[in-house]
Amino acid sequence: MFFDYHLHSQFSADSEMTMEELCQTAVQKGLKEIAITDHHDIDYQDNTIEFLIDKEKYLKAIEKMQKKYEGKLIIRKGIEMGLQSHILTECDQYLKDDFDFVIASFHTAEKNDLYNGDFFSGYSQWEAYIQYLKTVLKVVKEYDNYNVIGHLDIIRRYGDFEKKPDLLENEQAENLIKEILKTIIKKNKGLEVNTSGYRLDGQNPLPSFEILKLYHQLGGEILTLGSDSHKTEDIAQKFDYTISQLRKIGFEKLTTFNKMKAEFHEL
Ligand SMILES: [Zn+2]
Ligand SMILES: [Zn+2]
Repeated sequence: MFFDYHLHSQFSADSEMTMEELCQTAVQKGLKEIAITDHHDIDYQDNTIEFLIDKEKYLKAIEKMQKKYEGKLIIRKGIEMGLQSHILTECDQYLKDDFDFVIASFHTAEKNDLYNGDFFSGYSQWEAYIQYLKTVLKVVKEYDNYNVIGHLDIIRRYGDFEKKPDLLENEQAENLIKEILKTIIKKNKGLEVNTSGYRLDGQNPLPSFEILKLYHQLGGEILTLGSDSHKTEDIAQKFDYTISQLRKIGFEKLTTFNKMKAEFHEL
């Protein structure tokens, strides 16, 4: 019944897994369906690494796996798009109608990289968090060519801060998150629950359970589950625990996607 909807193969510059290893491990772990979601970050500001995919090669490689694993594992053509407000037209041109599933992720804000810390210079911790959320809100208001927002509160992972508070602890941040959630709900977009988040505080996926509660209260129902694995041992990481927590919050379904159309499965 498990679906891992966030997986990186050798097509991502930062992944150690081949597509073959990824699919093999998914079968071994008893997954029924996966989406391979390699990185495509147009105009990524850190020039030391390139997160761009040769789409033809990538889709062909997935099709090869689909054939090889037919009857054993459903494999969807996914992608994790790094969104920025100045590249949205390019994103559309790249995506066309070629994918089953698109994660909208924010790895940069204001043309600065989050991962290498550039974005944080000149900001206090909360100023940085709030600026990041404003960036997300601006894009989700304008852009629709995706299914779920990836790791919504990923900003907590970066920046050299001792404390990594839940974003709902600050009123301005809370209001921005509410607005983001209301916007995506209205537009029929969803959230992913990214279990790589447990690496941050041991207790929460990305976004945190508090944010997921808020999403549920506001009427959000579209939810995918993904491990954001870059190596085999992380595939389906902490899925049992996460699902039990999601049930406690009140979610009843998980979502998968086929040609960008949502399919719902009882939790
Ligand atoms: Zn990401
Ligand atoms: Zn990822």
